[in-house]
Amino acid sequence: MDKDHDNKTILHLDMDAFYASVEQLDDPTLRGLPVIVGGHRMRGVVCACSYEARNFGVHSAMPMSRAVRLCPEAIVRPVRMSRYQGVSRQVFAVFGRYTDLVEPLSVDEAFLDVTGSRRLFGSGWDIAEKIRYDVRQEIGLAVSAGIAHNKFLAKLASEQAKPDGIYQVPEQVDAFLLPLPLKRLWGVGPVMLRQLHSLGLQTVGDLRNMHRSVLEKRFGQAGGHLYRLARGEDSRCVEPERSIKSIGHEDTFEYDIRDTDTLQVVLLDLIERVAPRLRRKNVIGTTLTLKVKYSDFTTVTRSKTVAAGIRHADEMYKLARTLLDKTEAGRKPVRLLGISLSNLTAAGGGQGLLFEQEKRQEMTDLEEAMDRLRELYGEKGICRATLLARRQRGSSGD
Ligand SMILES: [Mg+2]
Repeated sequence: MDKDHDNKTILHLDMDAFYASVEQLDDPTLRGLPVIVGGHRMRGVVCACSYEARNFGVHSAMPMSRAVRLCPEAIVRPVRMSRYQGVSRQVFAVFGRYTDLVEPLSVDEAFLDVTGSRRLFGSGWDIAEKIRYDVRQEIGLAVSAGIAHNKFLAKLASEQAKPDGIYQVPEQVDAFLLPLPLKRLWGVGPVMLRQLHSLGLQTVGDLRNMHRSVLEKRFGQAGGHLYRLARGEDSRCVEPERSIKSIGHEDTFEYDIRDTDTLQVVLLDLIERVAPRLRRKNVIGTTLTLKVKYSDFTTVTRSKTVAAGIRHADEMYKLARTLLDKTEAGRKPVRLLGISLSNLTAAGGGQGLLFEQEKRQEMTDLEEAMDRLRELYGEKGICRATLLARRQRGSSGD
């Protein structure tokens, strides 16, 4: 690994139990109580839950009926996405004070490259403390921070830091990395995990002992990836959104999805991740592309161009559903779904007051559209697709 890379300071910041924490922030009578945010009390799934609810064994993506059995005194609140997005904007504004290199991963999570900020603000640890302090003081919420010299390790570190903490990967990376179970590795789903277990491998340390050629023979390209991760290597850069040509998101599922209802929920979730990023960048796109990877690993894409521009979540959702109908999704099991918007241009040409008013109007429209979509589809238990995908694994992370 080159030395420059080792010298980077990357933070992974992740809000604790974000949706549930916002509910407790807005309604102080909920503080200290088990709070569940999610769909209908009997039919939906848990989208988020407070740490108090987790003590009862409740976790994200669990069916709501099971959650309320485990914790009958839980207070169940509906998802208020536009409020969470508003809080998210405040949180990201804090992140932006310390570096321009902010790469959002979702509404409550981001990578920050603070290498160039150290001279001004101190070490990675100092910067993480300042950010945590600002978010706590100004917004009233807890954000956990992982610190490392690359994205992969920083993300592992923030999990270690939760709740409400900081964790810096030690100089001796192995002391931290090698004891971790293999399921913590990025990209290792249940299928690969079973294969690794069948080879007698349980921890990253076990994986480290495998020869590269053996892993590559067994797992192909993914083998080389595993080899690098077992050494804590990750050369990906933090990509701030202004430098990119398209905005998109995709999810690989841990089990194949066979029904179109679920795929539509996943689509909505993907759009919910993409739409706020368009808004933050203040851009619109003209081409929407849907990507579908089937369980046999064949991949198709379908695109639609709208010359007038695509900017609203409901427009994107309608188009994406039409594109989905043009694939074999549902007839063939689906392993991955992605959407992206390309041919980006600035959303507002004007300046000054008029522009500000337009921008505000555009934001309100988007938030209303998201809420309408939630009303329409909320009963299926709309929730982050990664949570959906983690349902089988029963992960309690957030
Ligand atoms: Mg979080």
